[in-house]
Amino acid sequence: MYSNSEILFSRAQQSIPGGVNSPVRAFKSVGGTPVFMKSAKGAYMTDADGKQYIDYINSWGPMILGHAYEPVTKAIVDKAAEGTSFGAPTELEIEMAELIKSMAPNVDLVRMVSSGTEACMSALRLARGYTGKNKFIKFEGCYHGHADAFLVKAGSGVATFNIQTVPGVTAGVSADTLTCAFNDLEALTQMVKLNQNEIAAIIIEPVAGNMGCIPPVPGYLEGIRALCDKEGIVLIFDEVMTGFRLAQGGAQEKLGINADLVTYGKVIGGGLPVGAFGGKKEIMQHIAPLGNVYQAGTLSGNPIAMMAGYTTLKILKDNPAIYQELEVMSSYLHQGLDDVLKAAQTPYVINRLGSMISVHFSEKPVRNFADAAAANNTLFNKFFHFLLDEGIYLPPSAFETWFLSAALVREDIDKTIDAARRFFSR
Ligand SMILES: *Cc1c(COP(=O)(O)O)cnc(C)c1O
Repeated sequence: MYSNSEILFSRAQQSIPGGVNSPVRAFKSVGGTPVFMKSAKGAYMTDADGKQYIDYINSWGPMILGHAYEPVTKAIVDKAAEGTSFGAPTELEIEMAELIKSMAPNVDLVRMVSSGTEACMSALRLARGYTGKNKFIKFEGCYHGHADAFLVKAGSGVATFNIQTVPGVTAGVSADTLTCAFNDLEALTQMVKLNQNEIAAIIIEPVAGNMGCIPPVPGYLEGIRALCDKEGIVLIFDEVMTGFRLAQGGAQEKLGINADLVTYGKVIGGGLPVGAFGGKKEIMQHIAPLGNVYQAGTLSGNPIAMMAGYTTLKILKDNPAIYQELEVMSSYLHQGLDDVLKAAQTPYVINRLGSMISVHFSEKPVRNFADAAAANNTLFNKFFHFLLDEGIYLPPSAFETWFLSAALVREDIDKTIDAARRFFSR
């Protein structure tokens, strides 16, 4: 007997590469058949076989208010009736930009796009156009979407540039991408020194979320900020995950550090395809049509997408208690998992900031990609599948952050902790 997910997965592979439209959905890292979803409401998703899951992915972040949140879905439906795309400006786009500015005060101008990839790609182009320099620095294990320049496999520091690591990305493109270990200010300072006056930008996930959750060590981001100021480098915070999630003003507010440019995605679209980049007027005014750094999009600022994003952000802005509730639920989960793992006498590290959390089965602190890769990820995969069977949907990789939604209740967290306990006592 095959499950509906198994039947769908085998059918999907006949017409979609690998059966999925984004690779991480294929369960490659944990093994097994991806679960096909049919519907979702609040904290739960229902799969093609009718089984329900407590959701700790939340579409990789966007569904911070929970699935099919009534005010958001109603706003989308009402807006759709007024026409779905004009290719001309609308008032709603101004309201969206004003709302973003009110939540992230160092954003003077903001341009809407349709994905986090587009946001990061455009911010980098802008930083290069503004500074007239080509090189930029990213960090090993940080993800900034799939634009060519970012797809440089993080290797052993400076030596790795100029190597074609992802087929299809030319050596010419990756030659200007320098990679450095996350949380190592010393190595970064050295790299900047070696490339004096050649670096356009440093782009970073202020709280890394694409190698599990890895917060910055104290002083690290402050050090990067000072380095950028001293060397005239544009500091880009990729807040695609952290924006509007860690606080109204994202990581910038939560950690008290301002970037020069910020990129958004995920929460900003409330479940629809939206991204944005914004920042200081001095830099943003170089974007077309104000300036000559070209950037465009047929569906940028799409009314339905804007409505979903605007409604979500407005609810977050008007109800700051949501962030406190998320903190309470996340720390309750953190504490519960901590107790279970301690009792299980398994080496582990729980990293968390706000409603981003992850578990690494590691003996030592996890502060960068190498630490995350050295953890017992085979154990994570078993843990993942046990919880999946129990109706708890974690990200299908040890290198991904879990995201909590405001729809979760204590009972959901208790079930999760209990399942973790049973995994270790089986
Ligand atoms: C998801 C993500 C992106 C890419 O966003 P897409 O909308 O998937 O293109 C970029 N940066 C970070 C930090 C992300 O988590």
